[in-house]
Formats: sequence, structure tokens, C-alpha cells
Amino acid sequence: MPKTKAHTPATRIGYGFDSHEFRPGIPLKIGGITLPHDKGLGGHSDGDVLLHAITDALLGAIAAPDIGALFPPSDPKWKGADSVIFLREALKRVQDAGYRVANVDSSLILMAPKIGPHSAVIRARVAELLGLHINCVGLKAKTPEGLNLDNAALAHVVVLLEKAPQKKKKARKKK
Ligand code: MG
Repeated sequence: MPKTKAHTPATRIGYGFDSHEFRPGIPLKIGGITLPHDKGLGGHSDGDVLLHAITDALLGAIAAPDIGALFPPSDPKWKGADSVIFLREALKRVQDAGYRVANVDSSLILMAPKIGPHSAVIRARVAELLGLHINCVGLKAKTPEGLNLDNAALAHVVVLLEKAPQKKKKARKKK
């Protein structure tokens, strides 16, 4: 039976996964950056597979409801939505729970385009969104060898949260 008293460990780990299918004629958004390519990732929102996986990793780390529960694809409100909105909500929940992000690591799996030339820009944007230094944002890109997934992009993400320092209370003057 689960403990009834809330537990607030010093660190918490979160894991997120997402996948989207490539479709012609739409912009390709990855990590909040629009990349030059002849296809984009389909989805109800802007299809940003990396931001979705980061969002779910953040939410998972604090055992919050996942991205699909918070932003249901059935809700027309989120049609074409900028995925930065989802990430910001997840980050707010992390902060409200008393935590901050220590670092994030990610793997992108896609056949094209090559991520290497865009890696630093994507990492910088993700770092900015999470309030991190770029050296705390890992990004690896792989091709889907032997997976028969050439028309999809997948993202796996882990995040580490640490307890945010308590704000110092002003010392009360002795009367
Ligand atoms: Mg998604």
C-alpha cells in the first residue's frame, strides 16, 4: 500500500517518449526551432516531437498527469498549438512542486534531416526554455537503422530534477 504522507526526495528522475509521422508541406519544428526540410511532423499541435518528450519527462518526474491528459488532442484549442506552451506548463508544475531542472538528455531518432548542423541551436533553445546552461542539455541524433521507421521521428528524453533552494525568510526582529 502506498505511503499516505507525501515524499519529497532531493532528486527526481523523469522519462519521456514521443513519435510523430512526417508529412509533406508543413514546417518541421524540433526543440522549438523550425528546421529547413521538405516535410514536417504531423500532429494536432505543431508536432514538436522533442518538446513533447521533454514535457512528458518533466511531468513524469513529479508524477503529474501526462501531456495527453493536460492538453487532449480532442480539444480544438490545441490545434496547431506552439508546443512551447506545453513545456512552460510542465515547467511551472515542476516549480510549484518545489523542484528545478538539473539537466536533460535526449535522443532523436530520424532518417532526415541531419540534426548535427542544427544541434547547437536546438540545445540553446531548449536550455533557454528550461532556464539551463547549454552544457546541461544533451542531444544525440540517430538514424532508425533496421527499425523500418524512415517516415517517423522519435524522441526519448530523461530529465533530472533537484529540490529548489528555499527562499530565505526575512529574519524577524526581536521585540
Ligand atoms: Mg506528440
